[in-house]
Amino acid sequence: MNIILFGPPGAGKGTQANNLIKNFNLHKVSTGDLLRNEIENNQDSSSKIKSILEQGILVSDDVVNDLIQKILSNKKYYNRLIFDGYPRNLNQAKKLDLLLKKYDQKISCVLSLNVEKESIIKRILGRQTCTNCGEIFNKYFKAATNINHTCDPKFLIKRSDDNEKAIINRFETYLNKTLPILDFYKKQNLLHHINGMADIDQIFNKIRDIIASLETWLCK
Ligand code: AMP
Repeated sequence: MNIILFGPPGAGKGTQANNLIKNFNLHKVSTGDLLRNEIENNQDSSSKIKSILEQGILVSDDVVNDLIQKILSNKKYYNRLIFDGYPRNLNQAKKLDLLLKKYDQKISCVLSLNVEKESIIKRILGRQTCTNCGEIFNKYFKAATNINHTCDPKFLIKRSDDNEKAIINRFETYLNKTLPILDFYKKQNLLHHINGMADIDQIFNKIRDIIASLETWLCK
């Protein structure tokens, strides 16, 4: 089963992807994380990618599609991927379809998390990610404590693109480039809408219900 988590920046895609990998035998593919990894480890492309991320616009499709192809071609992850932040435009969605065919896989569902714009800014400004375990916290809604997080607090970081100016650009990019993809998946009967304003646990329960209702999942 391959799942696409869809929604604006700050919708909770990363949080729900982490919930999914804890509860199902799935692997998270966050193109944002893969790109941040490239910035850390790839001297040649690092400064160019960093500047694009900080502006809140999209990295070129070729760069991102190459990263995705490496994952899809890896048998270790065969048919158990959660896409978080990919595809981000129609060209990427079409490329993903081609790659899935090439590696004999398919998408089981697209889960669209709907969140009001006003909440997004607060969610993103409060976000902290642990660079050690990957868990995502929020200063305002889900603060890291020594009960829910065992890593050293020094690992908790705020992303450099989680500032007000970049957030506005990221939201505009989402509206103009990413949102139109929904129709592409609606036509394929893969789309499920979820209220992303609900509690983290309520959202996850809804995701579980959708997964349980998928024939493809029950047949496996
Ligand atoms: P995210 O971690 O998903 O919020 O992504 C952070 C940033 O990485 C985005 O604002 C883009 O600059 C870049 N990025 C992430 N995923 C993609 C993608 N699929 N295509 C192009 N750029 C991406």
